[in-house]
Amino acid sequence: MSRLETDIIVVAGGAAGLSAAIAAAQGGARVILMEKASTTGGTGNMGMGPLGIESRHTWAKQFSPTKDEAFEIFMDYTHWRCDAKLVRAFLNKSGDTIHWLESLGVEFVEPASYFPKAYPTWHLIKPETGKPGPMASATMMKILTEKAKEMGVKIMLQTPVQKLIKKDGRVVGVAAEDKVGEPVETSAKAVIVATGGFGDNPQMIKKFTGYDFGKDIYSFRIPGLEGDGLRMAWEAGAARTEMHMELIYGMPDVMTIGPELHEACRQPHLMVNLLGDRFVNEGIMPNTTFMGNSISMQKDRCAFLLFDENIKKQMESGFDFMSVVFQITRIADFDKGIQNALDQDYQHLFVVDSIEELAEKTGIDRSGLKKTLAEYNRSCEKGYDDLFNKPHRYLRPLKTPKFYAARHFPGAYGSVGGIKINHRTEVLDKNWDEIPGLYAAGNDACSIYGDSYVFVLPGNTMGFAVNTGRIAGENASEYIRSV
Ligand SMILES: Cc1cc2nc3c(=O)[nH]c(=O)nc-3n(C[C@H](O)[C@H](O)[C@H](O)COP(=O)(O)OP(=O)(O)OC[C@H]3O[C@@H](n4cnc5c(N)ncnc54)[C@H](O)[C@@H]3O)c2cc1C
Repeated sequence: MSRLETDIIVVAGGAAGLSAAIAAAQGGARVILMEKASTTGGTGNMGMGPLGIESRHTWAKQFSPTKDEAFEIFMDYTHWRCDAKLVRAFLNKSGDTIHWLESLGVEFVEPASYFPKAYPTWHLIKPETGKPGPMASATMMKILTEKAKEMGVKIMLQTPVQKLIKKDGRVVGVAAEDKVGEPVETSAKAVIVATGGFGDNPQMIKKFTGYDFGKDIYSFRIPGLEGDGLRMAWEAGAARTEMHMELIYGMPDVMTIGPELHEACRQPHLMVNLLGDRFVNEGIMPNTTFMGNSISMQKDRCAFLLFDENIKKQMESGFDFMSVVFQITRIADFDKGIQNALDQDYQHLFVVDSIEELAEKTGIDRSGLKKTLAEYNRSCEKGYDDLFNKPHRYLRPLKTPKFYAARHFPGAYGSVGGIKINHRTEVLDKNWDEIPGLYAAGNDACSIYGDSYVFVLPGNTMGFAVNTGRIAGENASEYIRSV
């Protein structure tokens, strides 16, 4: 067994871990960062950018919200079912953290919103190559990794941490395994846990959130996110918080059908559940959290987007909604896209000649479907949806075969919550006393959303990760001076 010694150990090198390591090194601490994977970044490699409130970018554009407004929006949205001081600490720091990231070499383009009623808090990262888009944040992770190394942080890859070591009530180190499977024991004055939740652990997903991965949820599974940090912290006495999936929605295996077809199947046409009933104002579709919630409330947690030949043709000239992520405005050749999916035996798209066949192939209740279609088509003729008040510009009747159905399920970016922390990111025990020497950040400790992701302030989870990581690094480096 090898033995190491340092001031602060950071468990994991994702968005929160790298931010924590740099902040701790800036605070004068010697830092070892142990990362399970063969590269750093974790889920932090996947996205487009973190939230920032009152950054120089939002000021330059005179974009709201201010810190006070953002706090109010956040707390109204969550009905105060969260730690208000932690929320305030995160939001208040977030603008400055954008400047801090810039000082480390990260570049941002203008802040963006995500859907019509959201605020422009999402600081899109300028990637090394090309325009902002999916995985632009990998550039940020790369810059943070290099910066951490420059500042003397020792980064140990393929070194999964397995256990926190406690002595006299304090956390004083970790037990890990190195690249070749040899045990490594490292002592330190403080440990920061940031292992990104349990998005890659179907058992934990089932146990703590109730979803069945691959049956009623098709969430991102970033390899290695198995809830290690939660387990270790709980074993060390940490209190548990509520845990949720960071819900979105979509069709399974997007890569099989490609983003163009997927976006075509997320336009505001008629959506029904297995009973054939409408259950949502389809106009809210760009709010992926709300749609994820509403689909998860339906029978078997699935729903079908339906459209006909006329609507299909309209989508070839232009979509109603354009996703900020993919920036796709139309589908050039729908038939080709659908044929490609069907050739690959894709199970969640249906092309049929009649409503009877639609019911038979999808399992949607036939009489329910017929009744809904008649009602919906009447609303389209009236130009008014008296059921859910969907905007009239999206009301298009379904009358002309062929008919198309796309089956949707809840999805998720990953899990949030698990380890109880305070606004200083100190981990609390079941008595809500701090466990000396133990800090947590990022998704492992992100229990501030109540039951629904606060997507109205986009960039929220990456924002929480970089900000709580930074707070943890600052506070841990202060703490070690007192022990
Ligand atoms: C497709 C996609 C797009 C996204 N886009 C955005 C976006 O634009 N804006 C936004 O706000 N959020 C976005 N998110 C969410 C955001 O990326 C995450 O919330 C954020 O990265 C969480 O940071 P974290 O540090 O907690 O976890 P991660 O960044 O996932 O890092 C966790 C790290 O822990 C490591 N690890 C696990 N177990 C151990 C162990 N035992 N020992 C050592 N290391 C371990 C993992 O290998 C990983 O590197 C997106 C997520 C996805 C999936």
